[in-house]
Amino acid sequence: MTTGRALITDCQLRSRTTGVNMTIEATTGQPYQYRKVELVEPDWTRFPGWKDVTREEWESVQWQRAHCVKNVKQLRALLGDLVDDRFYADLERDQAERATMSMLVTPQMMNTMMRHTDPAGPGSLTEAMYADPVRRYMLPVFSDRRTDWPSHPHATRDSLHEHDMWVAEGLTHRYPTKVLAELLPTCPQYCGHCTRMDLVGNSTPMFDKLKFDLKPVDRHASMLDYLRRSPGVRDVVVSGGDVANLPWARLEDFVTKLLDIENIRDIRLATKALMGLPHHWLQDDVRAGMERVATVARDRGVSIAIHTHVNHADSVTPLVAKAARAMLDTGIRDVRNQGVLLKGVNADAHTLLDLSFTLLDGAQIIPYYFYMADMIPFSEHWRVSVAEAQSLQHALMGYLPGFATPRIVCDVPFVGKRWVHQLEGYDRELGISRWTKNYRTSIEASDPEALTRTYEYYDPIHTLPKNGQAWWHEHAGHDLAEAEKRAAASREAAEAQKLLPIS
Ligand code: SF4
Repeated sequence: MTTGRALITDCQLRSRTTGVNMTIEATTGQPYQYRKVELVEPDWTRFPGWKDVTREEWESVQWQRAHCVKNVKQLRALLGDLVDDRFYADLERDQAERATMSMLVTPQMMNTMMRHTDPAGPGSLTEAMYADPVRRYMLPVFSDRRTDWPSHPHATRDSLHEHDMWVAEGLTHRYPTKVLAELLPTCPQYCGHCTRMDLVGNSTPMFDKLKFDLKPVDRHASMLDYLRRSPGVRDVVVSGGDVANLPWARLEDFVTKLLDIENIRDIRLATKALMGLPHHWLQDDVRAGMERVATVARDRGVSIAIHTHVNHADSVTPLVAKAARAMLDTGIRDVRNQGVLLKGVNADAHTLLDLSFTLLDGAQIIPYYFYMADMIPFSEHWRVSVAEAQSLQHALMGYLPGFATPRIVCDVPFVGKRWVHQLEGYDRELGISRWTKNYRTSIEASDPEALTRTYEYYDPIHTLPKNGQAWWHEHAGHDLAEAEKRAAASREAAEAQKLLPIS
């Protein structure tokens, strides 16, 4: 692993240095120029709070967990006056008036922020902090958010209705052959845009979180029971939260029991911590345990993969690559990335291609999906329109191998993931796209119109032409009441169908 002040890699330099970029592009004529990636671990001792932290401490998972940034006071202790007071006040206001997630940033993630600016006295990192792509989604500030439409009128806490589709506590059955198992409601790091903000993390001043009723052991048992009774399900996303927060023995027990169920053929473990806290996945007991699980899976012809969540190339450091390598060495099939498309973070073609190549070449992580950010409260400043997402997908095509060309997907409420070009209709003035589906979710077993109905998704209002914005000013209230009615109806249907096996 490299540390030191040479923080700007060749690849990053290209995307930041217009002159270099233009020269290459003039030569090749390509909108994007590929170059080999060199990973660099930024020097953590550049921050006053970590000036005496040794490599041994840095690489210890216990030290990392104990030194997460959980509040403004701790951030101030770390950065001191390198960042102006106005930033801390901006962050504090956001926590009090907007935040859907509480603050939790691992040192590993903190250290990838402002990595291209050397500290040079009081206030010297303020602008870099405001502009930093990782900061923009891990430590959102009040001034980042929109003031015209901070939330879309259709924004809801559980925007994908995962809770509505629980068939056992924490087990969402949305697609015909696959389920999502939310084993726990916590993560080693909390992302400001988290789509599961209804359930995941601690309550914030603005949002009380949903609590699981069952004890973890009973909850996991009822999930396994449902899967044993549902031979039509073959694929389980084991998630949360983040499985890195589950004691390894408990995760291994759950996965081993999944492997005993004949119909389960695909298991995907969801962990942003592979990037946010790679130290977890580098622990000897975790590596040995994963090897045991991978061996059983291989013997039974079942595929196990890790799905992680990286949104910017700056987050991919040698330690992240080492953790991905360690997991692949256990015999699991793949490590794949599911990033989120976020304005101000990565919503341009060069940044997405830089990230994809950095993941693939630097860490052997397959770029798989970029989700459009979901319609949760206060997320409008991050969201892009379907038209923008389509244009980004177009710009990504042809550079990466087909198997590693990420698909940009829209997770349409009551439908599920759709490729962004799959829509049935699109009113660009009102920013309303219409989508169809070819399967029933678990709450539509007896709905005769589930397969013929169109389902709506909404662009951020500030991206619409003037007439469209005016329409929303006039109709938002009425539309919202309708949306609430639909959500209430879906909850009733979910209650009625709970625990019925689907085969
Ligand atoms: S790691 Fe995933 S589940 Fe956890 S806060 Fe981030 S987006 Fe949400």
